[in-house]
Amino acid sequence: MSGAMARRWLAPALALAACGPPQETAPGPAAPAAAEAGASVDEAAGPGWLKGQLHLHSNASGDSDTPPSRVARWYADQGYDFIVFTDHDRITEVPGPEGLLVFPGVELTQNLERCEPPPEPGLHCLLHVNGLFVDTNTAALAGLAGPASTDRLELYAHALRVTEALGGLPMLNHPNFHHAADADLISALAERGLVMIEVANEAWDSNNEGDATHPSTEALWDAVLSTGARVWGVATDDAHHYYDAMQLRERGERPHTGDRGWVMVRAERSGASIREALRRGDFYSSNGVELSEVAFDGRTLRVSVAEAAEGEHHFVLIGDGGKVLDERRGREASFSAPADLRGYLRVRVEDRRGDRAWTQPVWPSPG
Ligand SMILES: [Zn+2]
Ligand SMILES: [Zn+2]
Repeated sequence: MSGAMARRWLAPALALAACGPPQETAPGPAAPAAAEAGASVDEAAGPGWLKGQLHLHSNASGDSDTPPSRVARWYADQGYDFIVFTDHDRITEVPGPEGLLVFPGVELTQNLERCEPPPEPGLHCLLHVNGLFVDTNTAALAGLAGPASTDRLELYAHALRVTEALGGLPMLNHPNFHHAADADLISALAERGLVMIEVANEAWDSNNEGDATHPSTEALWDAVLSTGARVWGVATDDAHHYYDAMQLRERGERPHTGDRGWVMVRAERSGASIREALRRGDFYSSNGVELSEVAFDGRTLRVSVAEAAEGEHHFVLIGDGGKVLDERRGREASFSAPADLRGYLRVRVEDRRGDRAWTQPVWPSPG
């Protein structure tokens, strides 16, 4: 098998070379088409749930064989409303097929030989940050040529600065992939402008569940929220294989496929509205459970599964320290904030297959 198929982190041109400038930047002349100016399909429609993908790759990444237009077609076929291209160190911009909004992003990919704290034996320094809804002015990308530092915090903070220079929303990717980031690091980055982390990067090697010596990504998120940081939890595909996934399986390889983790954003069908909803946390993340309602009035959090969702669901109310505060079974649940509550509340909904939806944390007003 080709290395590109198995190792989604080695193929990029910048691999192990984040201290040099990018070898190539995005194709074509830079057009100042910010996300806000992106394809606005139906301005008249009011806010509804839009299904979106915030992490995906095309052949512009070097570790996928699928051209961007085919990737967009694939997501349109799966019923997505919007996608953001996040090729490794390249800003990819293509027009979407009808019905699909397509936005430029980039996965700032710092793959380094050394970092501090050092990786555990056999693991590597793979520090990846998505800049979402970026400008297509690629000059700022050259700024990725990194700081003269091996400190993880400084390297990640640098990626946040590049994202800001690109006008994008920053997301820390797959924290448990090679254990790139722990809760202290993510909390420190939240103070520096980090908006989102991947709680469920559904690539098979993301290690979301953790192990005997590492917390799950969801536990990491709770540890971060428990410091008072406000960071949203995201589910993504990190897909590299699309129409070719079956061929890979037939060859005995394990593809990185799509439509396994996504976000549902309460927004109008425009880049500006979607981006703003993501920034303020008006969305939920899912790897299979569809919700119809997520409502919070300052004291009570109400969550319902969609009509099409099958069977009874398990609603879990989670608070400070990742503690389970309450649980319900059914198709909807309404939780009131305990009078003595400190910090945040969030809900995880699980179906009988184990698929989940994660609502974003809310901070009740004092009771
Ligand atoms: Zn990555
Ligand atoms: Zn990726």
